[in-house]
Amino acid sequence: MAEIKTERLCHVYSVGTPFEKAAIEGIDLTLPQGQLIGVIGHTGSGKSTFIQHLNALLQPTSGAVLCGSEDINKDKFTRKAIRFQVGLVFQYPEYQLFEETVYKDIAFGPTNMKLSEEEIDSRVREAAGFTGIDEELFERSPLELSGGQKRRIAIAGVIAMRPEVLVLDEPTAGLDPAGCRQIQENLCAYREKTGATVIIVSHSMDDVARLAERILVFDKGHVVMDGTPEEVFSRPEELTGIGLDVPHATELAMALRRRGVALPESIYTHEQLLAAILSIKEAGKC
Ligand code: ADP
Repeated sequence: MAEIKTERLCHVYSVGTPFEKAAIEGIDLTLPQGQLIGVIGHTGSGKSTFIQHLNALLQPTSGAVLCGSEDINKDKFTRKAIRFQVGLVFQYPEYQLFEETVYKDIAFGPTNMKLSEEEIDSRVREAAGFTGIDEELFERSPLELSGGQKRRIAIAGVIAMRPEVLVLDEPTAGLDPAGCRQIQENLCAYREKTGATVIIVSHSMDDVARLAERILVFDKGHVVMDGTPEEVFSRPEELTGIGLDVPHATELAMALRRRGVALPESIYTHEQLLAAILSIKEAGKC
């Protein structure tokens, strides 16, 4: 699949009414195949509006979304085709489980794609494997299962369409730490095995610091930073200035620097912090 590009992408809600609201403005981005991208920003900064343009669920008020050189909103056939290539997992997707068995829920997307029975079956099993769902659960009702299991079934339902771009809005919201970790590992494995692009909206700076190779920072409908975790988290004052947290390790490093410990600027994981402190200790500076 070719890369996705947005060109001067704008979306205005409720145009011409007293509730008119420009949610995103002038977004110019290139999202190459295979990147793991974290999207962060304050509530209301435009993250959800942005991601819903990537599979044509929302249409731009102005500007365009391109897949390769093709405008994904060119006509209804192109819009339909992009929905199978770009899979979108909403916040709390388990509320959208509605089939009577786990198997049927995961099979819903591939069935809509009008694939053969065998192909549907192989995709359901593959998606269950990626999301750690035991096949023994296939005939159970999704409604009987735990919150973490339901979330994984909902994600499997999108993965079963084998999207080349997988976009998730807060995929671990509300789960316990073990459940979060498991879903993050599942998503990394999906990306590694398939070469898919994975785009994760998250409010957890620690998660994006650990997982993403590129971070987009949204503020008031604009992308105000676009870089590696190292580039983004070496600007902690700017992040806190727009109401965002920094990773826990960055916060600790800032506090230590204020107390005179000469730590390097770009620390965003606990492993980096520990290594920096040990190297200072070894050099006999503290
Ligand atoms: P985020 O995902 O970062 O919280 P959103 O994309 O949901 O941000 O919202 C961006 C802005 O657009 C906010 O001011 C929000 O109130 C507004 N907005 C979002 N959805 C709608 C809608 N359906 N109608 C009107 N305004 C909306």
